[in-house]
Amino acid sequence: MAKRLDGKVAIITGGSSGIGASAVHLFHENGAKVVIADIQDTMGQAIADKLGENVSYIHCDVANEDEICNLIDTTISKHGQLDIMYNNAGIVDIPFMNILESKKSDLERVLNVNLVGGFLGAKHGSRVMIPRGKGCILFTASAATAIGGLSSHSYAASKCGILGLARNLAAELGQHGIRVNCVSPYAVITGILGGVNEADVPQMEAAVSEVGNLKGQILKAESVARAALYLASDEADYVSGLNLLVDGGYSAVNPSMM
Ligand code: NAD
Repeated sequence: MAKRLDGKVAIITGGSSGIGASAVHLFHENGAKVVIADIQDTMGQAIADKLGENVSYIHCDVANEDEICNLIDTTISKHGQLDIMYNNAGIVDIPFMNILESKKSDLERVLNVNLVGGFLGAKHGSRVMIPRGKGCILFTASAATAIGGLSSHSYAASKCGILGLARNLAAELGQHGIRVNCVSPYAVITGILGGVNEADVPQMEAAVSEVGNLKGQILKAESVARAALYLASDEADYVSGLNLLVDGGYSAVNPSMM
């Protein structure tokens, strides 16, 4: 039986852990050839070694344009095409500071990875997709695109910036057959949250059930990866410019916390 990403080549940035690693596994299971791009080399290489010849790892700091160019060009040399550019790598500044304590240096650091990194991935991914007249660009944004007060100011600014970028790209690149979308999760327990670990799950579940998430359950990285899989697949062949919230309804029942 045909798989959902048969014949496709995908780059997943931030694929060494968390949501990105889940997407690597899921895209691979669904027939894609996957290139993991990350700065956590040991973890990324271990995933590639485990999954076999259709998954490879390339060191790439998404904020470095030379490294993004190398990522795209190496992928084309190896596979001859790029169908899916999934810009997922991201960082957050924890603990969240109020505006008077927030530092310009933190804003610049977060914007540089989350927004500049997404911009560079989209730019150089488009460079090889436009001549083919097809492709899919994806971003992991955040529920912070829909609700205020969920994260640091730097992080919210970076993710709202990504959403604006994605919509603009969708407007420009549709004529080239390229779809551009965001998947926007609520909180997932991954490395990005730093101190949060499995022991904190019951407390988080209790907090989440109070604010109206689906069945009061904690969101898992696999659920976000499944939404990304849909957007990456031909099942979403007329879907572009979408911000697909994966938040169990949180943003619908809490339109603003500010
Ligand atoms: P994670 O920390 O497990 O994964 C992020 C990955 O990005 C890591 O492997 C890290 O090494 C990589 N990375 C960081 N800086 C990089 C750089 N400069 N170049 C290349 N790779 C880099 O966290 P995650 O939760 O899986 O995060 C994935 C995406 O999901 C991020 O964009 C994040 O903002 C977004 N997101 C996460 C949550 C959450 O609660 N976990 C919620 C909403 C959105």
